[in-house]
Amino acid sequence: MLQQPDATLYEGKAKILYATTDPKVVIQEFKDDLTAFNAQKKGTFFGKGAINCQISATLFRLLAEKGVPVHFRSLDSPRRMVIDRLEMVPLEVVVRNRVAGSLTKRLGIPEGEELSFPVIEWYYKRDDLGDPMVNRDHIRILKLASDAVLDEIRTLALRTNEILLPFYRERGLILVDMKLEFGWNSSGSLVLGDEIDGDTSRLWDAGTGEKLDKDRFRMDLGSVKEGYEKIYERVVGHAVES
Ligand code: UDP
Repeated sequence: MLQQPDATLYEGKAKILYATTDPKVVIQEFKDDLTAFNAQKKGTFFGKGAINCQISATLFRLLAEKGVPVHFRSLDSPRRMVIDRLEMVPLEVVVRNRVAGSLTKRLGIPEGEELSFPVIEWYYKRDDLGDPMVNRDHIRILKLASDAVLDEIRTLALRTNEILLPFYRERGLILVDMKLEFGWNSSGSLVLGDEIDGDTSRLWDAGTGEKLDKDRFRMDLGSVKEGYEKIYERVVGHAVES
């Protein structure tokens, strides 16, 4: 699988997509940049891309083994993965197991409270609108996805949560919430895409309750790199090689 020269298809806040010689396949490269609050806050640390890429690769492999369709094919280098080229559904799907972040304010429930069942939320991917939360009627009006597709995404998101919750628990991590994205591959299948790591999930240490994810950066808690390294160690199974 060769990357084509001048092959940049898309550059986002945390990742770059490159075309390959196979139109069905692209390379997803993880950058060392960190952004929050719709890119108003910016940061970076060396090695962050490789850490997140390998966390994501480990989780995508696990999900694929358990029957969840994913875009991941293989690791190309420590911070690049070979994936199915997807046509993305323009929605962010948030799955929540505990109250945190925007939900604390929205419902007036203290941070950390366990939800009696996983709560799903939909956000419309539109930077210029600030990725607003939308409901099924809004999604119908905007024709972003049919009801049947939303049901399929919901089932896949809940299944992903059901697989990841015990995986993290066995490694001393609490999955508070996460953001997932889905898209269509060249065979017309709906698959889980994007990334799953400390940029897109809230993960707390089960022993101390310490936040290990991007909230360290968002909330200026310090030791951002160390938090990501702890997630890596628990998920990948060994310390980050320096
Ligand atoms: N999230 C994300 N990208 C976004 C917004 C949220 O990956 O653009 C993740 C976030 O890291 C958290 C979950 O989605 O794990 C729920 O985030 P929340 O709605 O609480 O928003 P936030 O507090 O980040 O504004």
